[in-house]
Amino acid sequence: MTLHILNCGEMRPWFAGWHSGCTALAVERDQGLVLVDCGPGEHDFIRPAASVRLMKRVFGMRDDVEQTAARQIVRLGYRPEDVGHIVMTHLHFDHAGGLADFPRARVHLHRRELEASQRRRSPFDLAYDRADFAHGPDWALYDRPDADWLGLEAIRLPFSPEMYLLPLFGHTRGHCGVALRFSQGWVLQAGDALPIGARFDLTPAWLNRLVLGPHGPRIQRWAQRHPEVRLLTGHLWADGYDPAP
Ligand SMILES: [Zn+2]
Repeated sequence: MTLHILNCGEMRPWFAGWHSGCTALAVERDQGLVLVDCGPGEHDFIRPAASVRLMKRVFGMRDDVEQTAARQIVRLGYRPEDVGHIVMTHLHFDHAGGLADFPRARVHLHRRELEASQRRRSPFDLAYDRADFAHGPDWALYDRPDADWLGLEAIRLPFSPEMYLLPLFGHTRGHCGVALRFSQGWVLQAGDALPIGARFDLTPAWLNRLVLGPHGPRIQRWAQRHPEVRLLTGHLWADGYDPAP
């Protein structure tokens, strides 16, 4: 089982000297690919919604449709239909825009996140784009933790490889981390519960809490006790990704 760490949206925001990306994970297995998040989709580059166009400009996202998860997995030798499951940390467009490019995949997420995406309540909710779900995804919804993953409350997902949703609400009302086992060990994709590349020193603590939710310091302490787990985030530094296929 091989894990690819794809950069599906290179970003150079105007307000900081950062060079980062939008993370999608592609797990190769005998029964096809599993994705964890899928970055922005083709429509975000070809005909973006007004809110998406604005956010792409603020975050300095490179306008290149070749970065989408769909185009990248084709270059890895797969077809979009080979993606059987997509596990979502949350449904903001920079993580979920690509759902429209994989209309046959089963999409696994916390029930609260789907509900949050359907009822906008705060300015952050502008990052939900209805166009991402217009094709009617095959949702698989979860709400009850039924497992303990290395001391964290977890929901076991019903397919291989061994994967868990970890409720980490805050960045959005149903945001989850995703733990997965692959041939070289465990990965925790903490999504947007942690800052870019888990670097806490770049932005003030109050801002991290406001934007990312309350779990960052706890996950950071947990990660120090679990050096065997590779910690990833929804946005990594540009050099933290696999080379683009
Ligand atoms: Zn994000």
